[in-house]
Amino acid sequence: MKEIRLRKGRDASLRRLHPWVFSGSLHEPTGGSPEDGETVRVIDAGGNALALAAWSSRSRIRARVWSFDTSEVIDRYFFERRLRQAIDRRGGQATRPGVACRLVHGESDGLPGLIVDRYDRVLVCQFLAAGTEAWKEEVADLLMTLLPVDCIHERSDVGVRELEGLSPRRGLMRGSLPEARISIIEHGAQYFVDIETGHKTGFYLDQVANRQLARSLASGCRVLNCFCYTGAFGVAALQGGASHVTSIDASEAALRLAEEHVDRNGFTDRHVAICANAFQQLRRFREEGRHFDMIILDPPKFADSRNQVNKAARAYKDIALQAAHLLSPGGLLMTFSCSGAIDMPLFQKITADALLDAGRFGQVRHWLHQHGDHPVSLPFPEGLYLKGLVCLVD
Ligand code: SAH
Repeated sequence: MKEIRLRKGRDASLRRLHPWVFSGSLHEPTGGSPEDGETVRVIDAGGNALALAAWSSRSRIRARVWSFDTSEVIDRYFFERRLRQAIDRRGGQATRPGVACRLVHGESDGLPGLIVDRYDRVLVCQFLAAGTEAWKEEVADLLMTLLPVDCIHERSDVGVRELEGLSPRRGLMRGSLPEARISIIEHGAQYFVDIETGHKTGFYLDQVANRQLARSLASGCRVLNCFCYTGAFGVAALQGGASHVTSIDASEAALRLAEEHVDRNGFTDRHVAICANAFQQLRRFREEGRHFDMIILDPPKFADSRNQVNKAARAYKDIALQAAHLLSPGGLLMTFSCSGAIDMPLFQKITADALLDAGRFGQVRHWLHQHGDHPVSLPFPEGLYLKGLVCLVD
């Protein structure tokens, strides 16, 4: 096995079980460069073996650790053990009919670059790094044997693959797709998931618990669901007794599905869908003197990296400011950021600034994060990306 050697003093993060080896902390590989995806031994400056990792020649993250036990063999059985462990940790959710959940959450499940989501009897996988790409056929075979599923669909059509020198890929890997749209049940509501063209793997599974919270807070509220995608926060609010929901999204296809979800769950007469840019529509509502008792802001990622933080902060602040103008006294603002580069203290400050500029006083009632089936392994704080606040606004 080829070895990659850390520069002197660059072993601290690996010793703390952080799974990434950056290009700047490595010497040039000796004895020829490994192939992309090849398993290499990571050694410290003194020659001590620290980890086994997957090599990626193009990425700034030059190697991702499979195991800190350097006596382990990285083979099909290794992946079987890790997949079983991830599945077992999800308990009954992994197999219960109709359920949608995340089964493998990359680094935090010990499988860097691998995402596996389950939509009832269909699995959707993303292979996001050179290491998982090299093992994808074995992973797909194993998943078919470990779980009662009909098929595996690949949705590796995401930008981060470029950083690894991988081209986007999408398509069926195993089995056959029963229907293009999969029906799932979340908190008693039915949703259709378009796994071929929907966002991410088809549905925002990271918001499951937060939608349940929205449901518990929405009784009697006029709700505005901004950046609604296929409307799941709105349906949850309606289940919780919201008097009315207005859903806004820039995507017509997403909105059509949102309307179908509202109809399907029996709330047609309490919902309106508006296809618009939310930044503009919030201003329009202000001009019209509209008010809402609960406003949900769940925008797309505004910051892809650290150098976009300032621009993103302005965008988060702008929508929170516009929303604050529309909230009735005592109203609830439920605001999210899925930008990993923006942490909770910064997000709270952005929200505080927005309310201050709107001349409103707010109080945080809930601090929210991604759902528990998107775990964060403690040595890997980067795994935490979704933050949210529920503010009571006077
Ligand atoms: N809350 C949703 C997920 C939201 S994803 C859920 O729980 O399912 C973000 C959504 O914002 C996407 O549907 C995207 O189409 C929409 N979007 C992106 N930019 C927008 C803009 N400027 N105005 C309105 N919607 C926008």
